[in-house]
Amino acid sequence: MTSTGLTTGAIVQYKTGNTQQAATVKVTGIRLCEPSKSSEASSSIDTERYRLSISDGEETFDACILTPELNKLVKEKLLQENSIVKLEKVVHNSTSTGKSFLVLMDLIVLPEPVTTMSNSNKQASTNICPIEMITPYLNGIWKIRARCFAKSPIRPHPVCDFDFHDTSGEIRVVAFRDECTRWHPVIEIGKIYDIMGTRVKTADKRWNSLHNTYELTLTSGSIIRLVDDPVVEQSIPDILFDFVPLRDISKHANESFIDVIGVVETCSDAVPFTNRTSNKDSKRRELTIVDEHTTTSVTLWDDQAENFDEELVENHAVVAFRRVRVAIYNNKYSLSGHRNMIIKVNPDVQEAKHLKIWYNAGGRVPTTQITTSRPVAEASWKTIGQIENEKLGRQGRPDYVSVKAICMHIANDRVVYMSCPNDACARKVNKLSSGLFHCDKCQKDFKSCEWTYMLRAELADSTGTIWVSFFRQIAEQLMGNITAEQFAHAKENNNETLMQNYLTANTCREGIFRLRINEETFNDITTVKTSCVSISDVDYSEYGQRLLQIINNQF
Ligand SMILES: [Zn+2]
Repeated sequence: MTSTGLTTGAIVQYKTGNTQQAATVKVTGIRLCEPSKSSEASSSIDTERYRLSISDGEETFDACILTPELNKLVKEKLLQENSIVKLEKVVHNSTSTGKSFLVLMDLIVLPEPVTTMSNSNKQASTNICPIEMITPYLNGIWKIRARCFAKSPIRPHPVCDFDFHDTSGEIRVVAFRDECTRWHPVIEIGKIYDIMGTRVKTADKRWNSLHNTYELTLTSGSIIRLVDDPVVEQSIPDILFDFVPLRDISKHANESFIDVIGVVETCSDAVPFTNRTSNKDSKRRELTIVDEHTTTSVTLWDDQAENFDEELVENHAVVAFRRVRVAIYNNKYSLSGHRNMIIKVNPDVQEAKHLKIWYNAGGRVPTTQITTSRPVAEASWKTIGQIENEKLGRQGRPDYVSVKAICMHIANDRVVYMSCPNDACARKVNKLSSGLFHCDKCQKDFKSCEWTYMLRAELADSTGTIWVSFFRQIAEQLMGNITAEQFAHAKENNNETLMQNYLTANTCREGIFRLRINEETFNDITTVKTSCVSISDVDYSEYGQRLLQIINNQF
């Protein structure tokens, strides 16, 4: 194959009668053969013959006869001059005078790359319809420009389907019979195509679980072209996620498919078990993932369980799950994987960046890995007294609770430090005599580093008090938006009054503090650490409702 994708040397092979191999060639000319005099009497549409010239990039050959069954391709302008075709079946023959000719018995017209720049190209200037706008009532000529993310095998009849998405949504494209045989070998997962000339119909939800009311059916007049343009390539993500926050999983029906994203907190070993229906040995693995609001468990099966990289837990990787199944077991919501689920580690999406920043701000402390699966902690309201009494955070996994409390006091030790600019690290750096900053963990020197908060504050409610760590943005919020830079400035100038003002300006205010409580072991000493992962204002009407509910439950 050359860089043009043509099979060089194919024509030499074909001319010598060696026609076993399929080849990709360019059609350089098409003309209708003059009917010969002897056949004039029986001349009809059926006996029309097209003669094609083809090029394999090296040699051109102009004695190719298209089998009449494929004349339709020329008539519908699917096969044209400059079309790139894959010759699937070719027969070699000779005329009475001994000249070679080829009969093209079967071929596939390959989608040709289009450049989006060309205005003269009718195809390129056709209106692109965002997938979510597709209805059966669209007027005029339109096309979708979308990335194929799934492709079914060919089923009997034959029929197959392709799942496409653009930035607005996803839709299934169904191909029956001729269209199935024609497009199945051509369309590749991961590539972007322009698709026009399709019929819109209502999707049958028994077979089609995509988030779209409609699906598209290919017709003999459908045109599908590969879009090979780096700009377009960047504009449509590899995978289109429609994330459901973990606390909203319960709003979805059992067995329905959703997309979620979270930081991997824990994972169990891959546990062998025997599948009761298939009687096959298999494996499963339990993960817990966490987002700003709550945690949930995800069960992985078979290969996905086996191949899960346990280091993702240690790295607090953000993992996105596309089309994970909602499962209700013992009245608890959880998530369950399946064969078609896509797992994407640290996906290049905004949600992942937010989660990473949020997690680093409050949850940078390494968690203890659990080796057996345990029930998942549910988002819960606690009093400070309950945190101690119920020994939260001591089950080998972090507990997340919300408390309504007052910040009494912010400790005046350290408060700010110069941190490593590597977000995933953010450890304290040391200033070298050269003026550079050195990070021991990253083993790197940095020209400039930023002041970062790490402070401790005492929270109180009517049941007790607790010391809690606050990091970065959460700490800045607690400090009433005084930046770490501002505080460091006061500290460097030994301005005790200003520092004290900063530390007390925003205390004694009530808020909702979301806390992460877990055990940490350092030098064989295990202590329970509590850090704040978010602060919000008290919604007193919601708080009142909750108290009422507790009272009603008691009596
Ligand atoms: Zn570092």
